[in-house]
Amino acid sequence: MFSNQKTILKEVSFSGIGLHSGELVNITLLPDDIDTGINFFYKKKKIKASWKNAEISQLCTKIKKDNVYLSTIEHLMSALCGLGVTNLLIKISSGEVPILDGSAKDFVNNILKIGFKEQKKKRKFIKLKKTITFEDKKKFIKIVPTNENKFTIDYTIDYKDELIKKQQFLYNHSYEDYKKIYLARTFCLQQDLEKIFAMGLAKGGSLENAIVVSGNKILNQGGLRYKDEFVRHKVLDCIGDLYLSEHQILGEVTTSGGGHELNLMLLKKIFEDKDNFDVI
Ligand SMILES: [Zn+2]
Repeated sequence: MFSNQKTILKEVSFSGIGLHSGELVNITLLPDDIDTGINFFYKKKKIKASWKNAEISQLCTKIKKDNVYLSTIEHLMSALCGLGVTNLLIKISSGEVPILDGSAKDFVNNILKIGFKEQKKKRKFIKLKKTITFEDKKKFIKIVPTNENKFTIDYTIDYKDELIKKQQFLYNHSYEDYKKIYLARTFCLQQDLEKIFAMGLAKGGSLENAIVVSGNKILNQGGLRYKDEFVRHKVLDCIGDLYLSEHQILGEVTTSGGGHELNLMLLKKIFEDKDNFDVI
């Protein structure tokens, strides 16, 4: 895991629909210099992909600068973390990253297609020194320091639905393990859709970019990609959200019933006290 900083070899562009806005979005990934981190460029503003700029938001992860917001960044951030990209500039034509097929597949494939450029400087890591926990009723997220310089996520979900029920997945950060989760798509319950539409969200949502669960059935043709695709997607999201730490975190995460809000609250709690971590 202790490797050099990394960017992409050359720029790559693609486009897709924003899940919540329903708008067509063009996105260009460009190589960036050493120590720049992951930055978005939208409406003439450069917004760093950082917990410092993150906002708690319904159903997605959002960052902002002044009055410019960018939402649904989590699947792209997950792909960048999974592939170990540390420096990148992302130019985007709308305030929402395209949903594509609801997983990180197209982000990963577009980047793999052009390849990486290893940079001549070691990357940095956030190494946890203390156990940090954030709880909200029955949901919780916890990170425990590790001596082994690893990043693991032990994720549990427990739904009343017959189809999802209880699922658990243990992820041990590496490209090999990332390959087990990056195809997992976002999902929703049919009974929640009306509420989501009423909030003006998911205008671009369709069976092309989300799994829709109705009772014990999947409405998507072709069904699931994995029997436990739901928890795998939650891991994918968690990886993306926690990459807002700016540098790869080292620690063992355990979480149950969580989501974007809990992931972000954990980051805020880690960084509120400098004694919680070392930058190595
Ligand atoms: Zn997601």
